[in-house]
This record gives sequence, C-alpha cells and structure tokens, in this order.
Amino acid sequence: MATPALMQNYGNRTLTLVRGEGNYVWDDNGRRYLDALSGIAVCGLGHCHPAVTQAIQEQANTLLHVSNLYNIPPQEQLAEKLVTQSGMDNVFFSNSGAEANEAAIKLARKLGNQRGLACPKIVVTEGAFHGRTLATLTATGNPKVQEGFAPLPEGFLRVPYNDVAAIEKLAAEHEDIVAILVEPVQGEGGIRIPDADYLARLRALCDNQNWLLMLDEIQTANGRSGKLFAYQYIDGLLPDVVTTAKGLGNGVPIGACLARGEAAALFSAGTHGSTFGGNPLACRAGLAVLETLESEWLIERAASLGTQLVDQLKAELAGCAHVVDIRGLGLLIGIELDRPCAELVDLAREQGLLINVTAGNVLRLLPPLTLSDEECGQIATTVAALVREFAQQAA
Ligand SMILES: *Cc1c(COP(=O)(O)O)cnc(C)c1O
Repeated sequence: MATPALMQNYGNRTLTLVRGEGNYVWDDNGRRYLDALSGIAVCGLGHCHPAVTQAIQEQANTLLHVSNLYNIPPQEQLAEKLVTQSGMDNVFFSNSGAEANEAAIKLARKLGNQRGLACPKIVVTEGAFHGRTLATLTATGNPKVQEGFAPLPEGFLRVPYNDVAAIEKLAAEHEDIVAILVEPVQGEGGIRIPDADYLARLRALCDNQNWLLMLDEIQTANGRSGKLFAYQYIDGLLPDVVTTAKGLGNGVPIGACLARGEAAALFSAGTHGSTFGGNPLACRAGLAVLETLESEWLIERAASLGTQLVDQLKAELAGCAHVVDIRGLGLLIGIELDRPCAELVDLAREQGLLINVTAGNVLRLLPPLTLSDEECGQIATTVAALVREFAQQAA
C-alpha cells in the first residue's frame, strides 16, 4: 500500500520497483522483471541507458534551469534536430504529453479566433486518449476519464475512429471546424490501427476544408512505431501540428508540440509559455535519445522486432479461443480478447514479466526498442502461455 500521504488517484499499487538496467527492472526484494511496458512507452532505450545517463549527469554539473527568459542552447539544438527529422517548421517544448496537446489545442483555437469564429471546433475521435488536463480530457474519447469533472470546455466534436465519412458529414453541418486531432494508432484505446489510407484521407480533407491536421504522437513517436513519427509511414504526408512526449526523454519529463506552415506562425510573444518547458536538463536528455535512436539503428530495430513479436504471437496463439485479434505497428502491440483480462497483468508479473492491459480487454506490449532477439522470443512465449491458460479457464 502506498502511503496515505499520497492522493489515492492511482489505486492500489502492489509492486515497488527500485532499480533498472537495460530491458530489466528489479523490485524491493531483489526480484528481476523483463520490462515489456517501458514505463508506458517512455523508456524506449531501456532503463538507465548510458548515453542518457551521461548527458543528464553532465548537464546536472553544468546548468539545470534558467527559465525561458533566456536562450537555452540544448533547447535550440533539440528543436533543430526535431524539425529536421520531422519535416515540421518549429517546436514548443512542454513537460508532458497533456501539455503538448494543450499547446496544439491552443494553436487551433488561435486560428479559429483569427478567422473570427466565436466557438471554433476541433474534431476528435471515440476511444482517443489525449491526457488529463481539462481540455485534453474533454478531447479524450472515454467517458470514464471525464466523469465528475463538469463543466468541460466547449469546442470539440466527436466521431468514431477510422471513419472519414463521419467527418465529411460534420464538415457539411458545421462552419466553424478548424482542426482534426487524432492518434495515428490509438494507444490507450487498445492499439487500434486504422485503415492504411486513413491519415492520407484526413490530410486531403483538411487541405480541402482549410483545417489543421493535428496528430497526437505522444505514444507512437520516438521510433516506437518503426518510424521516428508514425505519419512517416505515408510517403510525403506531413501534419500541420504533431505532439510527442513519452519516449522523447527516456524518463526525463519532456513534451513537444511541432507545427508547420500557418500553424507554426500562430503563437507570438506572450501567447503561450511554460516555466520548465524545454529546460536544459530535459533537452539534453531528448538530444541523447534522438542521437542514440540513430547511432544504434533502434527505429529500424523496432520495426523488425515488432514483426517478429507479432508473427510469433500469431503462430503460438493460432486458433486460441477468446483471442479476437493480434496486431501491432512496430513495438506498439495489442492482443485483443473477447472479455476483460486485467488479471493477466499479475499473472505475467508472477512469471517475471511486466505487461499492461488497456481498454479492459487488450493486452498491451510496449517493450524497449533495445530488446534482444532472445528477449523478444521470451516475451512472446510467456505471453502466449498466459493467454492460452487464461482462455482455458475462461472456457
Ligand atoms: C500518454 C498520452 C497522453 C498524455 O501524456 P501525459 O504525459 O500523461 O500527459 C496523451 N496522448 C497520448 C496518445 C498518450 O499516449
């Protein structure tokens, strides 16, 4: 039990992790776990990667924080690297994913206000997760996240995920839409992968309607999908706004909202800001992450590991009752069952493996991009055995 000195918003936590190295973490009894969750898609380089550790040690000995009243060289370097690698024009740095999305939402609102709209609307999707601040929980497509927090801000229209026709219908009904905010793959929503042409059709619709295409890549970016950003799977496609966070700092809190074209010119001096956002420590960590993704070829590795893991899971679980679907994009992997399966988390832990269940019935794997082939095989074997046993008992 966690101390009552903490608010009880995280429920009953029963495992205490005290150390990590590479793809493993250790609990307070010295027991080792293979980490197939990476702190929810954060530690993509594994735990305590020496390049990140060295970068933050050096920066801690140099300068931790000065505020955005001053130029911050690591912030400029990280911005330039992100802009070059993403095809976007510029960046605003935040401390979390929700704040990166807040910046995106504010960009859309600013555009709407400039267009003279009284209540500009952003199209969002069912099953989406965009964060826990008031605006981002409103954008989130899960009533459980919103319950009890009325009044919620206005300005969002909701459609089913992977349904372009539903947005075309909205376009015909509303004059005041300014943007679509969507995840290229829904992470918390259950590793839901849309049709291959979904993003391209959204891009075309946004071009046609003069809306911003805003992608939430907080979970999918930083190599996890097998590309630096998941939209890079589609040749030539660029969003107007893209947000990321989770994997960018490998555990050091950092978020980023990148913009392009008209969207990149919406914030002027004084319109947005953050005390900590883009501070020297977080940006040094981000730089170390991007450099290591490149030097260790981890993005390509995520793509091939993902294929390997999904193929093995499909082979081992072929014909298994209660398994609805096994799917993945890079190292965003989901096994959907036909019933709630939260107990699989504790059963996996007993086998020395950390996993997660999301959307109630989807076993989710988000392992580090640094897995060995052997560890990848071990995850598949352990998870398949657990699911087979669960299916037998559910019979
Ligand atoms: C985790 C997540 C967020 C929220 O990020 P925080 O850092 O927890 O605020 C937003 N969008 C997506 C897609 C996420 O996976």
